[in-house]
Amino acid sequence: MKKQNTKFVFITGGVVSSLGKGIAAASLGLILKSRGFKVINQKFDPYLNIDPGNMDPLQHGEVFVTDDGAEADLDLGHYERFTDVNLSKMSTNTSGKIYMAILTREREGGYNGGTVQVIPTVTDEICSRIMANADNADVIITEIGGTVGDIESLPFIEACRQIRGHVGEENCCYIHLTLLPYLKKADELKSKPTQHSVKELQGLGIQPDIVMLRSDIPITSSLREKISLFCNVPSECIIQNRNADSIYEVPLMLEEEGLGRVVCETLGLEGEPDFTQWEKMLATFHNPAGEINIALVGKYVALKDAYLSVNEALVHGGIANNVAINISCIDCKDITNEDDARRLLDFANGIVIPGGFGPEGTDGIIRAIEYARISKKPCLGICLGMQMIVIEHVRNVLGMKNAAAMELGEDTKDAITTLIKTRDPNLIGDKLRLGGFNCTLEENTKIFESYKEKQIFERHRHRYEINPAYLDKLQSSNLIVTAKNPDHNVIEAVEYTDHPWMIGVQFHPEFKSRPDKCHPLFRDFVAEAKKFSNDK
Ligand code: GLN
Repeated sequence: MKKQNTKFVFITGGVVSSLGKGIAAASLGLILKSRGFKVINQKFDPYLNIDPGNMDPLQHGEVFVTDDGAEADLDLGHYERFTDVNLSKMSTNTSGKIYMAILTREREGGYNGGTVQVIPTVTDEICSRIMANADNADVIITEIGGTVGDIESLPFIEACRQIRGHVGEENCCYIHLTLLPYLKKADELKSKPTQHSVKELQGLGIQPDIVMLRSDIPITSSLREKISLFCNVPSECIIQNRNADSIYEVPLMLEEEGLGRVVCETLGLEGEPDFTQWEKMLATFHNPAGEINIALVGKYVALKDAYLSVNEALVHGGIANNVAINISCIDCKDITNEDDARRLLDFANGIVIPGGFGPEGTDGIIRAIEYARISKKPCLGICLGMQMIVIEHVRNVLGMKNAAAMELGEDTKDAITTLIKTRDPNLIGDKLRLGGFNCTLEENTKIFESYKEKQIFERHRHRYEINPAYLDKLQSSNLIVTAKNPDHNVIEAVEYTDHPWMIGVQFHPEFKSRPDKCHPLFRDFVAEAKKFSNDK
């Protein structure tokens, strides 16, 4: 059977940022997938950083990591969680990455003496990247970061316009997401900013097929007609995107609004949606049999998005265990002594220590870990969290008070976490170990009980490793090594043998959790926290 032409959906934003374009794009992914189409979501960010890898998590939120090691915008996490498609480097682009490729090529003489310009060089490069995934999907959903009208997003909007010429009008659908501000005094939603934003887009050569509207209150039919008239969009293509209690409700809300139908009509696609699995997940989510309290002790708690995937994975753990999860973020810098730890963590039925970089606040993390160890509360340490579990153990249980961590600027003579030379030479130095790596689990361990398989593949983003020189010391203690990387012999997981459930993992399980398919470690961590709360 000849594959039908790949379809392209573009999602742009207008009026203000942070309207939830990522959730809208992810939701559309699910809506189309539920009709049987193979969907790939991708994001183009107009900023000049090559990727968000070096960006401050407090400003930009979490850095999402793909199997193939891309450090990506957190929207890729939404895409993966909604569509259950593992994305790749090809799904994440920035101006920086694009310019870097062009300028490298230019230095290598790749342009044969031609002039390198924004149009057509940069726009051609963007077009080819937008289409790069085409052979792998029925529909490619491309989200353009930022807002229409920004100077830096112009080449991207122009590329989206040009794609229509390359692949045919019948294969393109443009969705513009804007805000209808509510004026309290007038008790009215105002459409003028949307009209201006659509006009701006039209001025750049794109007539949206669908205008999606965020608003705090429902839109009236007369407002719908007005926007339809002024924006030149049929009224059934004005899609309301209301505030939802949970992001996982958004796909069904948008489906109810007719998004799936109008996108399919625009693209000439046919298919009946089947949301059975998603609806089942939502039903459990809405009817929990109880609730538990989880403390997330981290360095970047001032911005919730900094631990987005961990938060979501905990929510998934709640769904898998039929409990609601109250997550309280505790700033590790606030834990300065044992009393602080007790006072701040007493409420918790389980403690998560997520990843992080640099020495600030690590003393507080170590205190929190000590508290979890002694109180026997379920504890999951991720990446930095695992490294600190090992340091706390070596210092406080094994009594090596000088145990150090290279990253904390401490004496490397007793460095428990260090840069090691046993792995791939390309990873030595200050380079991060990024993306999916194999891990082999030890049988008869708690971690094996979770996965129920020996070989796992998990995503990483870290520089340091547990120093293998300490392996024997750990193995003969009550904190044992339970997983290793078979190729580079580095330590991937540890757990306490005399604690109900205290596991540290060098990788990031949160990136692979899905609302309807919780990651086994989050599922079992929440199950243990639930047990702990019942036993109390
Ligand atoms: N900072 C630690 C390292 O680089 C841990 C990184 C993380 O938690 N993602 O090894």
